[in-house]
Amino acid sequence: MITNPDKNDVERLDNEDPLKAFRKRFFIDSEQTIYLDGNSLGRLPLATKSLLSEVVEKQWGTDLIESWNKNWYHKPAVLGDKIATIIGASPGEVIVSDSTSINLYKLAFAALKHQKGKTTVVSDELNFPTDLYILQGLVNEFGPEYSLDLARSNNGISINTDELKSKITKNTALVVLSLVAFKSAFMYNLKEISDYVHRMGALVLWDLSHAAGAVEIELNESYADMAVGCTYKYLNGGPGSPAFLYLRSDLQEQFLSPVQGWFGDARPFDFDLNYQPAKGICRFLTGTPPVLNLMAIETGLDLLIEAGIKNIHKKSIGLSGFFLSLVKSKLKAYGFQLGSPIGASCRGSHITLKHPEAYRICQALIHPKTTSLKIIPDFRDPDNIRFGFTPLYTTYSELWETVQRLQEIVEKKEYRQYTSQRLTVT
Ligand SMILES: *Cc1c(COP(=O)(O)O)cnc(C)c1O
Repeated sequence: MITNPDKNDVERLDNEDPLKAFRKRFFIDSEQTIYLDGNSLGRLPLATKSLLSEVVEKQWGTDLIESWNKNWYHKPAVLGDKIATIIGASPGEVIVSDSTSINLYKLAFAALKHQKGKTTVVSDELNFPTDLYILQGLVNEFGPEYSLDLARSNNGISINTDELKSKITKNTALVVLSLVAFKSAFMYNLKEISDYVHRMGALVLWDLSHAAGAVEIELNESYADMAVGCTYKYLNGGPGSPAFLYLRSDLQEQFLSPVQGWFGDARPFDFDLNYQPAKGICRFLTGTPPVLNLMAIETGLDLLIEAGIKNIHKKSIGLSGFFLSLVKSKLKAYGFQLGSPIGASCRGSHITLKHPEAYRICQALIHPKTTSLKIIPDFRDPDNIRFGFTPLYTTYSELWETVQRLQEIVEKKEYRQYTSQRLTVT
């Protein structure tokens, strides 16, 4: 990490960046917009733009129903195999289906059935709310003896491993965790936690939404049981693109989806009246996928595979480290506090800064009145600004500009010109 970086360091870092050529492969219509929200919605890959026109005109327009056999039917599994290479899984262990919330429901349900007799589910209070809502619903559905127990965070940034371990007992059926926490970017040690959960006789389900495509993940090496995650974040699959679901191969025959739709049947086109689960991971498919969204995923995955997830993670660490040293050298006096872990090994690909005026500072970044430079991070209640770094298109210069702007907004009290009234989507 460079201490007190200057403008020359920035240029050198961008020039020496082995991934710099990838930025040109994305649709970027203005160099006056700095996009630091790829952890919520990734940018549009240029190849996706042309592929989608083909999907609409040729596959849907001309080929119509024939496209199911030619291009669409096997896509959930084909994309799953590509995602497998990005998250350290094997072919046949991942499919694309439904949303992350629904996949979490399907796997957690199957896991609780499999663990009959054990009645607690463990998660943590930094987890994404949808994960906790799904688990609360499941625990209610399974009966009064079931409960959800959350590991607490003493600083709102990270979870102490001992605290988590103290929640896992011989009665724990399932542990559900986000590998990277959505607000603080705190990252667990996947292998250490998976091993511990197994030693206690429980199963582990990882939500990789804020990790996949940005950090190296070794699902197989960690012997992780289950995982889910979004494709519209660092995988750049497009708004509302369906999610992925991983189930380790040796568990597949023992697990059943609670939503027995025809796409998960062994022979959907036999139209048999009785459900027969498909062999392998495809039993976790449900019904007809949203084809346009589904088809849009592949080109983004190809870019990640071409760049290599090791290189991507390395650049993510480079960007975060650079941003942290800028924050330290330039923003000290302006009331910002770090809302993320300091060490790269326990952090994902975004950095959160806390400030009492976080919401209005965010508004000033996004809707500037004194400059044409628009910067898009996002705001998370109550006082967090998240800066997401997408290694394939975020540059060091952009981070430099962002910190300059933050300094200016606070120094000149520009944020005072904005209201603190919240929009629906922050
Ligand atoms: C973004 C995100 C989700 C979103 O789930 P959807 O079902 O796609 O709305 C879930 N979990 C985590 C950890 C996330 O970061």
